[in-house]
Amino acid sequence: MASQAGPAVRPCLIGGDAVATAGSFDVLDPSTGGLLARVARGGAAEIDQAVAAARAASRGWRERSAEARAAVLRRTGALIRRDLDDLADLESHDTGKPLAQARADAGVAARYFEYYASVVEAFFGHTLPDLDGYLAWTRHEPYGVTGHIIPWNYPLQIGARTMAPALAVGNCLVVKPAEEAPLSVLRMGELALEAGLPPGVLNLVPGLGAEAGAALAAHPGIDHLSFIGSVPVGAEVAAAAARNIVPASLELGGKSPHVVLPDADLDLVVPTVVRALLQNAGQTCSAGSRLLVHAEVHEELMGRLDAALSSVRIGPGPQDLDLGPLISARQLARVSAMVETESGTAAPRIGGPGRVPTPPEGFYFPPTVFDRVDPGAEIAREEVFGPVLATSVFKDTAEAIALANGTAYGLIAAVWTRDLDTAHHLATELRAGQVYVNSYGAGGGVELPFGGFAKSGYGREKGFEALAEMCQTKTVVVRVPPRGEVPGQVAR
Ligand code: NAD
Repeated sequence: MASQAGPAVRPCLIGGDAVATAGSFDVLDPSTGGLLARVARGGAAEIDQAVAAARAASRGWRERSAEARAAVLRRTGALIRRDLDDLADLESHDTGKPLAQARADAGVAARYFEYYASVVEAFFGHTLPDLDGYLAWTRHEPYGVTGHIIPWNYPLQIGARTMAPALAVGNCLVVKPAEEAPLSVLRMGELALEAGLPPGVLNLVPGLGAEAGAALAAHPGIDHLSFIGSVPVGAEVAAAAARNIVPASLELGGKSPHVVLPDADLDLVVPTVVRALLQNAGQTCSAGSRLLVHAEVHEELMGRLDAALSSVRIGPGPQDLDLGPLISARQLARVSAMVETESGTAAPRIGGPGRVPTPPEGFYFPPTVFDRVDPGAEIAREEVFGPVLATSVFKDTAEAIALANGTAYGLIAAVWTRDLDTAHHLATELRAGQVYVNSYGAGGGVELPFGGFAKSGYGREKGFEALAEMCQTKTVVVRVPPRGEVPGQVAR
């Protein structure tokens, strides 16, 4: 992976300084398969250095007023907006996602910094009422040094989503971007410094998962871990956190269903399902990757989906078409293998490899829809992380609920119906951290608490919940004299 000649190596950012490493790794452009950048290969030594820098900065940052911390976050958001075009271009090259999606991601990244700048000033503790002889209240205190391990699918969005609330409440951070797409997170770190973030408050150590990632997860100087990625690695990170008795939040993806009832408005359903399938080439933790359809509308919906997907334009992210490449040759091999396994049972009903042309270079996979899959099949249970949809048919609401809840995951679900009672019933019964009715948000706005049930993980990101996630509660109790003991006051 490491090599000598070629582009300058992007360094780590530790203690406010650019820090070089002995080795480096190559970052490829998934749209072409060519070399995009060379990045410092941080390891245990750099993680150690970053944790020490964060610890040294901790008191100064946590003791600033919420207003002062918020001002820096707000300026970071403004700088992301100033450089939005450059960040979007970088993200589109680094991840392969169409430029318009990368632009939207950059806007959301800015919004995370702005949102947490605003709400942290209204994030109070509680006063406990009417205690006999005591006055008690709670304070939100930062953990201290927090570790953040970021995936490659939404580096700008997820980077900002995990960093902004942690910074807002006064933590100092060590962040490990994904090796496949680290560039925009490194750039956001530089922008935060430009915005006035003190040195050491935010440290970025790019590197490989088994090296920098594992070193960060196991480091005894880390007080809280946030991980977003796969289930097996999430389990390793949680085990490392448990050994150090520190909390971890895990966001591990899903197999999120659309449940389409017979009275659904298909004019709304079809474009939303298509968007949820194609967005980021299906590499979205909350991708709507299962379509559960009532038998009455199944054939009509499949026909409309076929028509909508027949005109999908596939090509390099910066060309801003409908569908970009997958992130890597490894991800392409993984998606291809899952699709081949299912194709052994039945050919895709819509699209599929060999039937839809894709560019010769780069890591492209065409839209692929399997119909009437066996609910026990891998394609119906496991995250594919590609533009692949698995369809099942149900006859009544009870069967729909059983199918929807029939995987190990529980991140998001969508219910499509005009009937209010059915919508409420399903919103209650579906096992998911978010349920959308007649819409699909792929996580939704920055204000909406987000996180998994079951194997989709635990802990909450976004909204006020993320502030609580990044804090610990301290209860302060002060003895107050009973009324009769106060000089000059008459006991009743
Ligand atoms: P991954 O879990 O291996 O990587 C996610 C992050 O964890 C990266 O930063 C990586 O460097 C780091 N990491 C890897 N090994 C580590 C270790 N031993 N200790 C600490 N950190 C480590 O994910 P992946 O291999 O890139 O993708 C595989 C699958 O994971 C995907 O196909 C998809 O199903 C899932 N995934 C989910 C999400 C999500 O948003 N929930 C994101 C990415 C991948």
